[in-house]
Amino acid sequence: MKYSELKQTSLMSKCRSCINGQYRMKLIPQDLAYLPYQGECRSCGKMSNIVAGVRPASRWKVWLGVSKENSQE
Ligand SMILES: [Zn+2]
Repeated sequence: MKYSELKQTSLMSKCRSCINGQYRMKLIPQDLAYLPYQGECRSCGKMSNIVAGVRPASRWKVWLGVSKENSQE
């Protein structure tokens, strides 16, 4: 999977805590880039800072979390 696909399918329009919960990751706010305005998380429905991407230096964390999750299914 490419990063752009991963972003579209797993990360976009969600808040950080939902991503952390879904993939059992411990991403810190500095790992991510956010939309410039608050929005409704498509996962928990709360108004929150919505993730727009992962900073390049932190992408390995996301890959690790997502691939672990996928291998369990
Ligand atoms: Zn959420």
